[in-house]
Amino acid sequence: MIPGPIEVEPAVLRAMGEVTTSHVAPNFIESFGNSLELMRKIWLAPNGQPFIIAGSGTLAMDMAVCNLIEPNDNALVISTGYFGERYKNILETYGANVTVLQADIGSTVSLELIEKELASKSYKLVTITHVDTSTGILNNPKPIAKLAKKYKTLSIVDGVCATAGEETNQENWEIDIVLTGSQKAIGVPPGLALLVVSENAMKIWKERTTPVQNYYGSFTNWLPIMQAYENRKPSYFGTPPVNLIKALEVSLSIINNEGITNRVQSHISYACAFRKAIQKLGLHLVPKHDEIAANTMSAIYYPEGIDPTSFRKDIAEYGVILAGGLHPEIKNLYFRVGHMGSITKSDLVATLSAIEFALKKQNYTFISGESVGAFLDNL
Ligand SMILES: *Cc1c(COP(=O)(O)O)cnc(C)c1O
Repeated sequence: MIPGPIEVEPAVLRAMGEVTTSHVAPNFIESFGNSLELMRKIWLAPNGQPFIIAGSGTLAMDMAVCNLIEPNDNALVISTGYFGERYKNILETYGANVTVLQADIGSTVSLELIEKELASKSYKLVTITHVDTSTGILNNPKPIAKLAKKYKTLSIVDGVCATAGEETNQENWEIDIVLTGSQKAIGVPPGLALLVVSENAMKIWKERTTPVQNYYGSFTNWLPIMQAYENRKPSYFGTPPVNLIKALEVSLSIINNEGITNRVQSHISYACAFRKAIQKLGLHLVPKHDEIAANTMSAIYYPEGIDPTSFRKDIAEYGVILAGGLHPEIKNLYFRVGHMGSITKSDLVATLSAIEFALKKQNYTFISGESVGAFLDNL
């Protein structure tokens, strides 16, 4: 129950274990092409350009920026934790002048502040972390992307802990790039960087006047490959991770068969009930309001007097693995629970029982079973 890598479906694991074919074998070409088409459906971006590249989510962040930024371009980072900081570092690598709007821990940056900044000078792009995995903060990309459009700024959404678990409607919300990694809400083992790029952003990339300062991540190298596979033709630039892409096709099909809207709705229902259960125990979330709390994961402060190390060890003994803190300023004060992908009600009930078990061992006062009760009452 950590926020990635998540548990994967048995059918996805089986695809990982299949015979590794040639990257130009007809059945693999079909899987690759189908995965690209499924990404467009799940991202709700019928006219976007999908990319499937071997690498982690950070490569997807890197590719979004290296293809669009030219030296001395202004870039705005809306930071709600650790991954905003990472975007600043990536942007600076490519010579951007970076401005960071930093939210207080547990809060988001106000739209007024974002608009004021976008109006103050000409920004090439703005980055938004959809769910910051270090704070469990949910940003709503819709109004921010709208502001970006108003000021002719490209919008990039880091959806690594969100895409396929939180509501996104890339084309309708006019977001230029929505990117993720395979091991989060997409439900595949780690190893794939996934991006969908708008027609507008592809045009800006084509019109750039300086070369892309990155070889492996350049659209110049990968666009013809994506187009070939989608047209069911063999092609080669770098060998694609055959089994991971087969597994991706299986997982995207599962998500698409369920329907992305239903999938997101079930994340929201489970997360709401889970938050109610946690609050029933008297525990506090890192996000200050439920409306800005992620539906894919929760960041929860330890109650006072709890020893974090034995707390998490007791939970592990109970058979549940949770994650510790990640945000450097509050690292030892909170823990994280992932609840994305194909998790079930029973997974969440088991997690809540494990949390109660660990709290009881440290003599924290509460009524046994009350979190499970609140979970069921709010489902
Ligand atoms: C996990 C994560 C990343 C980094 O992905 P890696 O696959 O670890 O490189 C980036 N952004 C967010 C929001 C994440 O949750």
